[in-house]
Amino acid sequence: MTEIIKTDVLIVGAGPVGLFSVFELGLLDIKAHVVDILDKIGGQCAELYPEKPIYDIPGFPLVTGQGLVDNLLKQIEPFSPVFHLSRMIEKIERIGDPLFHVTTDAGEVFETKLVVIAAGGGSFQPKKPPIEGIEAYEGKSVSYAVRQMEAFRDRSVLIVGGGDSALDWTLNLQPLAKRVTLLHRRDAFRAAPHSVEKMRALAAAGEMDLKFGQVVGLEGAEGELSGAVVREDSGNTYRLSIDRMLPFFGLTMKLGPVSSWGLDLHNDELVLVSTETFETSQPGIFAIGDINWYPGKLKLILSGFHEGALMAQKAHRYVYPDKRLTFQYTTSSSSLQKKLGVL
Ligand code: FAD
Repeated sequence: MTEIIKTDVLIVGAGPVGLFSVFELGLLDIKAHVVDILDKIGGQCAELYPEKPIYDIPGFPLVTGQGLVDNLLKQIEPFSPVFHLSRMIEKIERIGDPLFHVTTDAGEVFETKLVVIAAGGGSFQPKKPPIEGIEAYEGKSVSYAVRQMEAFRDRSVLIVGGGDSALDWTLNLQPLAKRVTLLHRRDAFRAAPHSVEKMRALAAAGEMDLKFGQVVGLEGAEGELSGAVVREDSGNTYRLSIDRMLPFFGLTMKLGPVSSWGLDLHNDELVLVSTETFETSQPGIFAIGDINWYPGKLKLILSGFHEGALMAQKAHRYVYPDKRLTFQYTTSSSSLQKKLGVL
């Protein structure tokens, strides 16, 4: 028989917003389990840009994606959240008022008083270039994200694309790679103008290569690339010697199972919430971070943090209906400081 895991709150998504909501709930004595499809904690920050700097987290003039996740994990340590990774939440069933059974694709069942959906853009998938046989190289010499810059040291790297990711990684990897080639369909870029300028200056100085065309074939063995065949607009084809390829063709965000949970949606893709409580159209189910929508919504990490704080206030009313909640500062409340283990 399936063992039922009981908790006050089940958080769907271990991105920055899901992580910070553990903190806000913890301050109010509400325990949380966190589930994520990915095999790592940190959502987009850890998966898409772990080594890139973020400049608009209040109080941190600069922090990398992974640095922010590491700090959030340290901050929520006192509340001992339980993580369940590599699992997708598939089903939410209401069994009480409010009480839910939530099921993962691995068959676990959670019995939770509340559900907090912090699922970002849903499950995000890189758009793949239509190159025959590319799967054989994926995860070895073809990657859709840079997890560790060191993996590209002294490599001949082909970066394909014309958006911010392609340009940013061209500039970041150029100093440590053996040679970086940026390949785009045409001589027009969607990326930030200052990045495009920097890239053009490097190419003009012979520090990297800038080429136009499309990859139409790959060469290599056992997952290791040795070359790419490029076709130019004129129809001319040639071979580039490379051992790593990074195609940046954008991401498809799939809402996935969230769309079947009976919640009111905005444009069929984002969950509508009240801006007072961040509760959805279903009492006891909240949505915070990139997954939600309300007039004026900004998909910023700092907005998600605010949403988590207000969500926790309403969550307290459900979890402790008989307890009055008094507003307290962490700076001056000895009760909060005890929970944080600093007193
Ligand atoms: P996410 O980080 O998307 O995390 C959601 C998690 O939920 C994911 O890990 C996903 O796997 C999981 N999930 C989804 N569905 C399920 C399911 N059914 N079951 C289990 N798990 C599920 N924001 C800023 O404020 N400043 C910046 O400078 C900035 N720079 C950025 C640069 C780039 C390149 C990108 C891509 C984004 C940037 N952002 C920035 C946006 C920021 O990363 C997002 O706003 C933030 O990650 C949203 O956090 P989240 O926790 O809501 O969602």
